[in-house]
Amino acid sequence: MADRFFPNDMPNSVPETDDPSAAGAVGSSSSLLKLLSLPYSKTAERFLRAGLDLKEKVVKETWVRAGRRVKDFSLYTGALGTAFLLLKSYQVTGDRRDLTLCNEIVRGCDSASQGSKYVTFICGRAGVCALGAVVAKHTGDEALLNHYLKAFQEINLPPGVPNELLYGRAGYLWACSFLNKHVGDGTIPSTHMIEIAKEIITDGRKLSNKGSCPLMYEWHGTKYWGAAHGLAGIMHVLMDMDLKPEECEFVKGTLAYMIQNCFRSGNYPSSEGKDTDRLVHWCHGAPGLALTFNKAALVFKDEQFLRAATDAAEVVWNRGLLKRVGVCHGVSGNAHVFLSLYRSTGNVEYLYRAKAFTCFLLDKANQLIAEGKMHSGDRPYSLFEGQAGMAYLFLNMVKPSESLFPAYEL
Ligand SMILES: [Zn+2]
Repeated sequence: MADRFFPNDMPNSVPETDDPSAAGAVGSSSSLLKLLSLPYSKTAERFLRAGLDLKEKVVKETWVRAGRRVKDFSLYTGALGTAFLLLKSYQVTGDRRDLTLCNEIVRGCDSASQGSKYVTFICGRAGVCALGAVVAKHTGDEALLNHYLKAFQEINLPPGVPNELLYGRAGYLWACSFLNKHVGDGTIPSTHMIEIAKEIITDGRKLSNKGSCPLMYEWHGTKYWGAAHGLAGIMHVLMDMDLKPEECEFVKGTLAYMIQNCFRSGNYPSSEGKDTDRLVHWCHGAPGLALTFNKAALVFKDEQFLRAATDAAEVVWNRGLLKRVGVCHGVSGNAHVFLSLYRSTGNVEYLYRAKAFTCFLLDKANQLIAEGKMHSGDRPYSLFEGQAGMAYLFLNMVKPSESLFPAYEL
């Protein structure tokens, strides 16, 4: 188990000081501790510089060196992830060159995703059309906005589509919510979204089969619990829908069922009945669950969910310094758990923890990757598996109160 993550020996807090020599007072003069002891404004400058440099590198590796052509259009491992990072960079700096390039990449993704059978934001055509529409709105290009909205409306959910986030109904609904938030309320009518949410609930009730968990789903024959393919991701999206009280109870009951059945360690099984306590990822395990519980605490105003979120975050602090960099199953994704809790609670201890994970990456990731001690991802510059995810985290840390887990938190 221990070989999946680095032991977290960072202190629970480090006083910030303008005097770099005072870093020695905490017992070590390591570069990481010095970084942690800087005043936040100075650390944020470092994050900004590192985020922008890494963004340039990601663009070069995934777009320029690819001949400005799109092979993999997905946000998860492909070109749309680079476009999403460019939009974030524009939001942080206001540099319109990022917006122009983002637009160009989304156009490439638009051509490459024609006829794709995948319908979600993260892995499918809905992501291309929704992001295209939002960028067109920012650039004030009405014709392009209409093009992407029309293309979005032409997406049909195929029969037998799963319910999970990466390939299923939940991932399509997330794209609808993203459009309504960034283009305007009612861009996708709520009647359309409710219809799909009801299909998700009906499927979940069927598979629950009056079991102790009110909603249950399968993806490729496995009843997953995590954010990517399972209950955490589906519940996360359902909480943004206009549900009836009875449907809300199904969602709450499903979350409570998972809380009652967590491992003794506080971590969560990757799927129903699985007893190996191994993965502490956004996709499988405590990090994805923590984000969903944190949202549930805000939506349902119920203390049990905030407690579950903070308990899961404790697991992430202890076992979440993974030997990978990305947001799906890497340190960058896990850092977002603390950012999310900082946003919802205002507790600066969570900001410190997010800062600690981010400083760990800033200080050590390059060297650990070069030494072969850390994996840079199968697609090393992608948003979900690679360094684009790390760049996204750096940019989120510049304005932590406005940070969101990419393509997951709204
Ligand atoms: Zn993953």
